[in-house]
Amino acid sequence: MELDGKVAIITGGASGIGRASVSTFLREGARVVIADINLEGARTVVVEEEAAGFAGRVVAVRTDVGSWDDVRAMVAAAVDAFGRLDVIFNNAGIPGGYPILEQEPDAHYYPIMRVDLDGVYFGILAAARQFAAQGTPGVIINTSSIYGQSAGERALVYGAAKAGVISLTRSAALELAEHDIRVVAITPGRANTPIIARFSEELTEFMAKEQLRGRLTEPSEIGEVVAFLASDRANAINGTVVSVDDGYIAFKNRLP
Ligand code: NAD
Repeated sequence: MELDGKVAIITGGASGIGRASVSTFLREGARVVIADINLEGARTVVVEEEAAGFAGRVVAVRTDVGSWDDVRAMVAAAVDAFGRLDVIFNNAGIPGGYPILEQEPDAHYYPIMRVDLDGVYFGILAAARQFAAQGTPGVIINTSSIYGQSAGERALVYGAAKAGVISLTRSAALELAEHDIRVVAITPGRANTPIIARFSEELTEFMAKEQLRGRLTEPSEIGEVVAFLASDRANAINGTVVSVDDGYIAFKNRLP
């Protein structure tokens, strides 16, 4: 198994991409801390995974990734539960979707930045400190988005946060390499999760058609890539962006 013996935190693990990654990580031998603001949802995942045979290998912690205190407590909880930390998947996020002329900083800027950018920054900091204190290698995987790579409708703040995640990833990788810590970002395109489910059927169909194979990406397909990136087999991948968008950016950049 790829992740045998590793201890991983997955933020936003109660739903969507994070939820699917919990299953993949467990199947690959990891012990997993599900950190989510939705504690009830995270506990439901624990019960489901225990029933699937992973009892004793998965716990839930209520964490608001926009709070530095919570994120430090989350890492402490992982060490409490499993004795160490090897991987963090900074994945929790909230969507944008507001037209510029209707935006208010307090309602539309700070709340999105707080979760989508601050949350990743805090996760990098807290995990890196733990890895360095242990004196062991570590892997940090951050969820960006195609909106961090391209302009997007109603994505002024979300896109800025997700572009920021790519920048955090590159600079953190540069500085943490001497501690044998790898840092990688992933950019999902249109993944079949509750974030997408709030759109109309028509818009969802349109989005799916813009991926090269005309379909939404399943969260489990992204979980597979994340588990690979977390494993030693991906040891050569560092300080970069791994696209998990089924060719969305390629489609957008195509020539006639
Ligand atoms: P989702 O809504 O299914 O899951 C997000 C999870 O994050 C939820 O469990 C939620 O409770 C949790 N969360 C929200 N705010 C939090 C906070 N402050 N602290 C801790 N947990 C919090 O969404 P998803 O589609 O699985 O998205 C996961 C990540 O992927 C997000 O960062 C999102 O921006 C990104 N993404 C998704 C898509 C897509 O098409 N679904 C595309 C590109 C990027």
